[in-house]
Amino acid sequence: MRHNFGAGPCILPQEVFKQASRAVLDFKDGLSILEISHRSPEFEEVMAEANKLVKELLNVPSGYSVLFLQGGASLQFAMVPMNLLPEGKTAAYLETGVWANKAIKEVKNFGKANVVATSKEANFTFIPKDYEIPEDSAYFHYTSNNTIYGTELFTLPVTKVPVVCDMSSDIMSREIDVSKYDLIYAGAQKNIGPAGLTIVIVKDDILGKSGRAIPSMLDYASYKDNDSMYNTPPVFSIYVAMLNLNWLKSKGGIAEIEKENKAKADALYKEIDRNPLFKGTCAVEDRSRMNVCFVMEKPELEKSFAKFADDNGFEGLKGHRSVGGFRASMYNALPITSVHALIDLMQTFEENQNK
Ligand code: PLP
Repeated sequence: MRHNFGAGPCILPQEVFKQASRAVLDFKDGLSILEISHRSPEFEEVMAEANKLVKELLNVPSGYSVLFLQGGASLQFAMVPMNLLPEGKTAAYLETGVWANKAIKEVKNFGKANVVATSKEANFTFIPKDYEIPEDSAYFHYTSNNTIYGTELFTLPVTKVPVVCDMSSDIMSREIDVSKYDLIYAGAQKNIGPAGLTIVIVKDDILGKSGRAIPSMLDYASYKDNDSMYNTPPVFSIYVAMLNLNWLKSKGGIAEIEKENKAKADALYKEIDRNPLFKGTCAVEDRSRMNVCFVMEKPELEKSFAKFADDNGFEGLKGHRSVGGFRASMYNALPITSVHALIDLMQTFEENQNK
C-alpha cells in the first residue's frame, strides 16, 4: 500500500478519482463530461451543485457569492488588488512565506503594499503576532496556511478593515466564519479539486469600488453576474470538485473532517516531539495541520530515512526545495491510517538506529 504525503497538486480520495474517470468515458448517454455542452441542463446542474456544496459546507452567509475561476491562486495575487485597491491607496499584507510574498509583489501594479509584519528573517518558521493594521488600509491580506513552511494561522487578527485571505492549502479542512472575511480565495488543488480551478468567496458589496477599468475576465463581477460562466468554464475540474465536495459532505462535512485532521496532526507532532531522531521546524503554536515540516536531529541520517520511507511505500515526504528536510502533507483525503503507518515507520527507524 502506498501512502501519499505529497503536497499536491490535487490529492483526492480514490473513489472520487474513480467516479471522475467513469464520467470521462460516459457521463450521459455515452457522452463524456468533457464533450457535453457547458450550457446543457446537465452541466448547469453540476455547476449549481458545486456552488451549493461550497455554500453549504462553509456555511456561506447571504450577501456573498461563490465564484469558480481559472488561473490558480497566483492569478488572485493580481486580481485582488486590481478589484479592491483604488489607485494610489495602500493595502496591508502579512508576510508569512513565499505565497504571501508573491501576492505582495503584484500589488505595486495597482497601488501600495504595506507589509505590516514578516517572519522572513526566521525563514518563515513562525507567524508574526505583534503588529498593527492601519485603519485606512484598503484591505488586510494574509495566507491562512503556509504550505511550504508548515505554519497555519488559526485566529483571525482583529481589524476593522476588510479581510482578504489566501486559503489555498487549508480551505475545507476546518470550520471558518466566512462572515469575518470580505474575500477568500483558494487554488482548488489541495482539498477541492484539480489544479487551475480557483474558488473565490466574495462579499458582494465590496465589488465595483476600485475606480479603474478592469478587463472582463479579471473582473469578479463578470463571474458573479454570469454564474461563473462568462466564458467556457473548466467543466471537468468543476465536476471533480463537485464529486469531492460531495464526498466531504458524506463524511459528515467540515466539522467531522476537522476532528480527523486534528487527530492526524496531533498524532504526528506527538511522535516528532517524542522521537529523539526528529525535530519540528516551526513554532509549536503555529504548527500547521495540513503540512507538517520536520528535520532529523542528525542531518547525516536524512538520506537513509528518506530511502527507508521510499522503500516502504511512502510518497511525497521530501520537504520543499527552499526548506529541505521533510514535509508530510496531510490534506483531507489522506486517511489517518497513513499517519499511523508513518509514525510506525519513524519508530522502526529509531529502533534500527539503536540496534
Ligand atoms: N497560495 C498557497 C497557500 C499555495 O499553497 C499555493 C500553491 O500551492 C499558491 C498560493 C499558488 O497556487 P497556484 O499554483 O494555484 O497558483
